[in-house]
Amino acid sequence: MGTHDVDAFEFCRKQELRSGEASVAGFVRLAAETLDSSGVIRWSVQGGSDGRGHLQMDLHVAGTVSLRCQRCLGPMQHQIDSHAVVIVAADDESADELDLQLADEPVEVIVGSTALDLLTLVEDEALLALPPAPRHEQCTGDSQAVAPAEKKESPFAVLGKLKR
Ligand SMILES: [Zn+2]
Repeated sequence: MGTHDVDAFEFCRKQELRSGEASVAGFVRLAAETLDSSGVIRWSVQGGSDGRGHLQMDLHVAGTVSLRCQRCLGPMQHQIDSHAVVIVAADDESADELDLQLADEPVEVIVGSTALDLLTLVEDEALLALPPAPRHEQCTGDSQAVAPAEKKESPFAVLGKLKR
């Protein structure tokens, strides 16, 4: 880690491209969200601008991580395949302005730096791509996380029995 520090402004102006692969285990925050830190994240970042003078990075993050199914508590594989446009603001002030200006657009705004770690961006995006409550698409396991509601007899059924 640390080998992917770039000058964010230069990176965008020169339309540079970086890509790589990194093991999930190397991302401390991401690994903590997974079941066993297994898997590899493939990523790419393309520098550029949005045509309105804003510097931006096109971010792609893909890979498979293992999560715990919240229904059966068994392991499950989750495919991340995520794309984000990250607008690089010059400073805090312009970041706030851009946040307002671009509030309706599917972009993220960050404050640029001359030593921006691209892998931090990659990790942020991977974290955003995790489902809040992972579940097998077709979960066949018994529910343990959420105990099934016990079938209680309705008070009316009890009354019905009493009448009999
Ligand atoms: Zn499951």
